[in-house]
Amino acid sequence: MNTKPLQRTHQKAPEKIRTFIAIDLPESVRTAIRTIQADIRSSGFKAKWVRPENVHLTLKFLGDVDTHLIAKINSAIQTSAKEIAPFHLGGRSIGVFPNSRRPRVLWMGLFGQIGALLRLQKKIEAQLALLGFAKEKRTFTGHLTIGRIKGKAPLRQVSRILTQYETYATEPFAVKEVTFFKSQLTPDGAIYTGLGSTLLK
Ligand code: ATP
Ligand code: MG
Repeated sequence: MNTKPLQRTHQKAPEKIRTFIAIDLPESVRTAIRTIQADIRSSGFKAKWVRPENVHLTLKFLGDVDTHLIAKINSAIQTSAKEIAPFHLGGRSIGVFPNSRRPRVLWMGLFGQIGALLRLQKKIEAQLALLGFAKEKRTFTGHLTIGRIKGKAPLRQVSRILTQYETYATEPFAVKEVTFFKSQLTPDGAIYTGLGSTLLK
């Protein structure tokens, strides 16, 4: 048996990984997003496009977390998910954050059982608060980020895009699970890896 005391002075800093909790999307929505991005890009609009395979519906951004907390976060997600039955959402319209006078983030909105989505997000927020993760101050607005605008965007082009997609909608899709993602930021874009998925009730 090894009875050597812990060498406290040589302990490594806790390992941290960047993480977030999200709803993953079906291929049909990714395909729709790919088409819209190509259409907007072909009109000459400049943006940093999110790769369609990376698009997701963020429920909670955690940032850098100690790897020792991963199991606890997964159980917090389980506690939240078992309270909510599967529900349906769809993608609709294009919008911008923070607003159309200062567009920075280009996103697809949502339709369908938004009440269930909000309940799920609230439960996750509450469970994660028990683990010490600060609650988001801004009200939750479920969205799918499809592009980011660098610098000054031509407002007339933005307004034309929003009008063009005002009545646009994808097929509805079933939300059956919540995924805990690891995010690695690289010069070629973010790499997301699932650390665990939890089925809804
Ligand atoms: P990049 O930072 O390279 O543009 P990304 O934003 O997609 O990539 P992350 O920064 O790891 O990747 O973020 C993961 C998800 O969490 C994204 O959906 C992002 O919009 C969201 N997110 C990031 N920071 C915050 C934040 N401070 N509050 C709320 N959501 C956030
Ligand atoms: Mg980011």
